[in-house]
Amino acid sequence: MIPFLDLKQINAPHQEALEEAVQRVARSGWYILGKELASFENNFAAYCESTHCVGVANGLDALQLILQAYDFPPGSEVIVPANTYIASVLSVSFLGLVPVWIEPDPVTLLLDPALIEEKITGNTKAIMAVHLYGRSCDMTALTRLARQYELKLITDAAQAHGARHHRQRGAALGDAAAFSFYPTKNLGALGDAGAVVTADTALAEKIRYLRNYGSLQKYVNDYQGINSRLDEIQAAVLNVKLPHLDAENDRRRQLARLYLAGITLPELTLPPADQIEDDVWHLFVVRHPRREAFVDYLLGKGIQTNVHYPLPIHKQKAYQAYQHLSLPLTEQIHREVVSLPLNTVLTDGQAAYIIESINHFE
Ligand SMILES: *Cc1c(COP(=O)(O)O)cnc(C)c1O
Repeated sequence: MIPFLDLKQINAPHQEALEEAVQRVARSGWYILGKELASFENNFAAYCESTHCVGVANGLDALQLILQAYDFPPGSEVIVPANTYIASVLSVSFLGLVPVWIEPDPVTLLLDPALIEEKITGNTKAIMAVHLYGRSCDMTALTRLARQYELKLITDAAQAHGARHHRQRGAALGDAAAFSFYPTKNLGALGDAGAVVTADTALAEKIRYLRNYGSLQKYVNDYQGINSRLDEIQAAVLNVKLPHLDAENDRRRQLARLYLAGITLPELTLPPADQIEDDVWHLFVVRHPRREAFVDYLLGKGIQTNVHYPLPIHKQKAYQAYQHLSLPLTEQIHREVVSLPLNTVLTDGQAAYIIESINHFE
């Protein structure tokens, strides 16, 4: 069986360094807001070609803390892609803000800048761009819109560590970017972790307060914050893995190239290859009109796939109030998408077997 993702194998090359890092923190007597986190925050801000990184407990909190720090009035509208992971939209609705759903670009499946302008009202405060599957949204078009209408441009970069826009990592961040280091992500911790990356000094400072009960000084609270800190063990783990991220993303790119060049099954829609160097290929998402049969066939060949995601957010029970929305492209995408195995331990031989199997599907 070729597993979709085997985290034990994926972390195996770092095992000794990870154990050394965990042991170092365990023996240090300092577990929260210490030097491991400060060091990771510096390293990751530099890696992202930005100035500030604020470590938080997870990716959802990173998104939520950005929105909370902007302090938009309740009922403000935030433009969101209809095709995304539910966390992007949860961050908006948790804060009493209103998600305004936009259909994706039919080729990239990402937020379509051409459909945003008609949805902007006097209450619109921000655009949330989600770099889904590891590919940066069209930040040039989105930045232009955000400037023109004085909106904040927030990015959900939970699937896009290292992704670039026109060769620039900094250009993919927007006004503030939210990262998740959930274990399956391109940069994954050994537990939950997240971060906000921004060049906005005032915003970063406010999020430093908000993640720690609204406090930067013991028992002095300037805001009604939350408890969302990236702990020292996870920060130490991330410091071990960050130096390998570029090489690992390069390996993902090589595998994407093999798939793009090798898969010829006519009914299968492949992801676009025009940004292959800037894309970090968190997921390799293909579309097939008979998805269930395709998935079963591959499973029969010993190839495990995954579906990101089976049910659109506006069709989830959690978002019943939005069920009436007509988002036909989003709904079709959720019926057709399949993620092929693509990870740092997949071999060229396994990729060749997957390609050959796919090309023989009838
Ligand atoms: C993983 C993910 C999140 C949430 O990150 P957590 O750390 O699990 O909270 C948000 N958005 C997207 C697109 C994700 O893939």
